[in-house]
Amino acid sequence: MGLIVQKFGGSSVANAERLRNVARIIAETYRAGHQVVAVLSAQGDTTDDLIDKAMEINPKASKREMDMLLSTGEQISCSLCAMALEAMGLPVVSLTGWQAGVQTNSAYGSARVKKIRTERIQSELDRNHTIVIVTGFQGINKFGDITTLGRGGSDTSAVALAASLKADLCQIYTDVEGVYTADPRVVPNAKKLEEITFDEMLELASLGAQVLHNRSVEMAKKYRVNLEVLSSFANKPGTKVKEVAKNMEKTQISGVAKDKNVARLALVGVEDKPGIAYQVFSLLGKDNINVDIILQSIGRAGTKDISFTVKRDDADRAKELLETHKGNLEFDHIDVDKEVVKVSIVGAGMLDNAGIAATMFGALYDADINIQMISTSEIKVSVLLDEADTSRAVQAIHDRFFDE
Ligand code: ADP
Ligand code: ASP
Ligand code: MG
Repeated sequence: MGLIVQKFGGSSVANAERLRNVARIIAETYRAGHQVVAVLSAQGDTTDDLIDKAMEINPKASKREMDMLLSTGEQISCSLCAMALEAMGLPVVSLTGWQAGVQTNSAYGSARVKKIRTERIQSELDRNHTIVIVTGFQGINKFGDITTLGRGGSDTSAVALAASLKADLCQIYTDVEGVYTADPRVVPNAKKLEEITFDEMLELASLGAQVLHNRSVEMAKKYRVNLEVLSSFANKPGTKVKEVAKNMEKTQISGVAKDKNVARLALVGVEDKPGIAYQVFSLLGKDNINVDIILQSIGRAGTKDISFTVKRDDADRAKELLETHKGNLEFDHIDVDKEVVKVSIVGAGMLDNAGIAATMFGALYDADINIQMISTSEIKVSVLLDEADTSRAVQAIHDRFFDE
């Protein structure tokens, strides 16, 4: 008997039948004697549809108004789910982010949870023995405005609530049966992991495996939240995300991830003198443009090229910014390629295993896929490829590590 936070993603609540299914899962947990706080995403593609609606009216809408709009999707799914539980005769209340006490900073569109005032939820749970349904993805800032946490942010809402309420378990229900060695929609023979460490999961999530929002993993690690990913469609054990995970099969890596939200810029013909990299990257940094992989060519005839990757949505802004400083940077021209993908392998065991990067490059070579850029860390190797090669690359790398 304990307190369980259960989060249900967009496809799990997409229509009336699925909402009833979610209500059944919540009801079963409640009837087993647990206190339940459920966190829901917007139904199906609702958030994308709301963005399209906004673009029709004003493509340059303020982030504040975007948050006001996008937060409505979660209100719909939560009230409908509460109605489904009411129909089952169970005590239930649905709450928006602000009613639930989710306080965030003021970064509209990518707000961070600062604190959750849990009094309201706690009293519903304790006094009325009520099931509480909370809108994911949203909170309120110090001005009393609605904020959203960034795409996929409902996972973070759930983990933040689990941490604040000191829940015994936080279950992330989604449309796959857990965390796999690669996206099971791209690699049909990907294997479900029984357990994965916070560090490996954080790396996978940050490198594009959207099964968990990366900030939810960060927070779960920090507050030692007992986290589990499982399917709302199949009644099967999922994947446990933990501090230390048992590695049954002793594979060299834990997974392969891909990220298409990336673009490559190349500053061609930059003068080969000290201080250029400093100038370029401080300009981008000041404008909040995050740079990921960087590659600088060896100087030839007094000039060199600097290539780097940024998020795809930042590419045009980065190009414009550098072009306005063409005078002092003295480059020849800028190339932008938005049709690229970053494919990565992740594994804590990489440090003591020489040759893992070579194995990855070998798999790509055998599939005749060209590598544009490479970056490595203690726990991952990433390569930048042509976007058209995404599925073949993920499959080839996956099979080399897991199927041979
Ligand atoms: P939800 O709406 O439930 O939040 P998401 O679409 O955000 O669901 O995340 C689930 C999806 O993540 C899956 O449908 C799957 O295609 C994708 N995915 C990517 N990488 C992985 C992985 N390594 N393991 C499981 N799912 C993954
Ligand atoms: N509805 C939001 C989105 O689509 C949040 C979420 O699903 O986690 O990004
Ligand atoms: Mg998600």
